[in-house]
Amino acid sequence: MIQPEQQRRAYLEALGIDVWVPRDQADPDPEIEESAVPASSDGVGWPELRDAVTACTRCALHEGRTQTVFGVGNENADWMIIGEAPGAEEDRRGEPFVGRAGKLLDEMLRAVGQAREKVFIANILKCRPPNNRDPKPDESAQCRGYLERQIQLVQPRIIIAVGRIAAQLLLDTDTPVGRLRGKTHALGDTPLVVTYHPAYLLRSPSQKRKSWNDLLLAKRVAAGAAA
Ligand code: URA
Repeated sequence: MIQPEQQRRAYLEALGIDVWVPRDQADPDPEIEESAVPASSDGVGWPELRDAVTACTRCALHEGRTQTVFGVGNENADWMIIGEAPGAEEDRRGEPFVGRAGKLLDEMLRAVGQAREKVFIANILKCRPPNNRDPKPDESAQCRGYLERQIQLVQPRIIIAVGRIAAQLLLDTDTPVGRLRGKTHALGDTPLVVTYHPAYLLRSPSQKRKSWNDLLLAKRVAAGAAA
C-alpha cells in the first residue's frame, strides 16, 4: 500500500515542486564523517537552543567570532528568512542582516507586509566566516542541526532562501540561483522560495524587480498554505 509520505512526495513532484529529503532519511554523504554530524537539537526549546548556540565550539569559526548570531524575530512567524552567514556588522551586533544589505531586505519585506518584527530571520551559519568567505561544508554541516530546530520551532508557512549559498545548501544542489528562483521548492513539508541576496541587489539594482516577484510568489504560497 502507498504510504502517506510517498503519496505526499508524488503529489509535490507532480506539481513540479522539488522535494527536499531530510538528512536522516537521505543516503549518507561520504564526504561528511560520522563524527562531523552535529549532536541533535531535537526536542530542545528556544532557551536551550540559544544557550547551545552561544556556547558552540563545534567548528573553528568560534575562535574568530565576537559573538554568535542566533537569529531574530517572531518565534511564531509565518515567514522565515534564511541567509548565509553573519558579516562584520552582524558579528559586532549579534543580529542577522543589520548592514546595508539588511536594510534593503527590511524595505523589501515591509513592502510585502512582512516587517522585520513579523518574520524570523536566521542564517545557515551562526558565526562569521573570516573575510566573509563562503561557508565550508563542515561548518554548514555542524551548524545545520541548529537551523533545523529553529525551523521546527517556528513552523513557518514559507521559507525564503536569500542568495546562492543559502539556497544551494538548503536544497542540496549546485543549480545557479537564477534557475532556483521563480518557483516553489519544499524543505520537508515547508514550501521554500529562493531569491537574490540583497548584497547582490545593491550591486545589481536592475535585478530588484525579480526579487520583488519572488516575494510576491512567497506571499501567494504562504496564503495558499494558510488556506
Ligand atoms: N548576509 C547574510 O547572508 N546574512 C547576514 O546576516 C548578513 C549578510
